[in-house]
Amino acid sequence: MKLIIHGGFFSESLTNQEIKMAKQLALGSIAELAYNFLQHHTALETVVYAVSLLEDSDLFNAGTGSQIQSDGKIRMSASLMDGKNMQFSGVINIEDVKNPIMVAEKLMPFEDKVLSGSGAKAFARENGFEYYNPETPQRRHEYEKKLSDSIRLGTVGCVALDTYGNLASATSTGGKGFEIPGRVSDSATVAGNYANDYAAISCTGVGEDIVSGAVATKIVTRVTDGLALHHACEKTMAELKPFDGFAGVIGISAKGEIYHTDTHPYMVWASFDEFVETFN
Ligand code: ASP
Repeated sequence: MKLIIHGGFFSESLTNQEIKMAKQLALGSIAELAYNFLQHHTALETVVYAVSLLEDSDLFNAGTGSQIQSDGKIRMSASLMDGKNMQFSGVINIEDVKNPIMVAEKLMPFEDKVLSGSGAKAFARENGFEYYNPETPQRRHEYEKKLSDSIRLGTVGCVALDTYGNLASATSTGGKGFEIPGRVSDSATVAGNYANDYAAISCTGVGEDIVSGAVATKIVTRVTDGLALHHACEKTMAELKPFDGFAGVIGISAKGEIYHTDTHPYMVWASFDEFVETFN
């Protein structure tokens, strides 16, 4: 059993050590809770559980505490991939729900597995997800100060390998902040979140760069074709260099390799492996 989570890029790192410590503590305790959960649950159930806890923490840009878009509204995106059954489900730009990753999970058994905007919200309401305003005073304050020029990324993700050898990945985001309404993040695409029988990957960073680099899919394909996870990650990240792509990834392979890397300083993450916690 293996598990790794990320809390996106930590842009405040150079100035705010308190936030850095709070994020590390939150990631550490969520990784431990999720690892304990994984003892009795599948990888798929566990990645949803871990990402829902990350969404509930207002320290991260997903669920509660999501970034506000240029028109003053919060729209969130999340996706889930079951490596065993090769099924991907997700929501794009959903509004007024607490846990987008749980709506993505609800969509898994349906024929139409990725819904956007008002369709996603209507599906959520029909399936018992009540109205919830994910805005926090901190995000409103940032919005009002129009900090659109500073990159404030804090997407969340989880990748897990369960006792049966199944892999799964989940990713959830409030987007990049101040974006044009309708912009589609990588987080609910196969570039940002992908898994099969060989590897599972969750990404964070600039969505446009992650999509251009087809990051998660490319890494998983390379591992499927025989590359070690860390080589597959480094090769794929090197391909972002020519256009200064900004991305971070976490991943696990079916062999139990666990890896994380980023193109810029730096992505916050935590992993829990046989009761040993590591984090940055
Ligand atoms: N990838 C997300 C996006 O571009 C942002 C992030 O990872 O923080 O919407």
